[in-house]
Amino acid sequence: MEYEAFVQRACGKKSDFEASLKQMKRMPDQQVDKLFHAAHQSAFATIDCLTCAFCCTYVGPRITLPDIRRISKALRLREADFERTYLKIDEDGDFVFRSMPCPFLLPDKKCLIYDDRPKACREYPHTDRKKMKQLFKLTLTNSACCPAVEHVLDELGSKCK
Ligand code: SF4
Ligand code: SF4
Repeated sequence: MEYEAFVQRACGKKSDFEASLKQMKRMPDQQVDKLFHAAHQSAFATIDCLTCAFCCTYVGPRITLPDIRRISKALRLREADFERTYLKIDEDGDFVFRSMPCPFLLPDKKCLIYDDRPKACREYPHTDRKKMKQLFKLTLTNSACCPAVEHVLDELGSKCK
């Protein structure tokens, strides 16, 4: 699937997704987490990230100081050299990769630094976190760049009807 076609399709569902999330706001926190986590499992049972890599190609993670320490060590680089070579500071003052696609994304869509990848990469797309209600805004944003989030919100939407 092409990214542009996906974004267009997902954006067309935005108001439906907003409506489902609004409905879920009224549910108890634990019930919302349970529904999200089940939909997350179901999404990743059908979607293979190695055939997608949209997040590694177009989105990119926020990179923390512990990430920099860990990845520099794994690459046997000085932290300053790692920062200079791979990172920049974005408009929010966070470290992000200097350019996208991610410099560590391999041609077969695997991650060169998988075991040491940034925490944000490990946690993306955040649909199996606790207190999901606090992440509704982020989830809505991610629905327009991650097919797994689209799948989760499609499934939750059908349950909210
Ligand atoms: S997390 Fe989402 S965007 Fe990233 S590779 Fe998996 S399905 Fe694609
Ligand atoms: S570090 Fe790895 S998981 Fe993170 S964006 Fe790059 S290729 Fe993807």
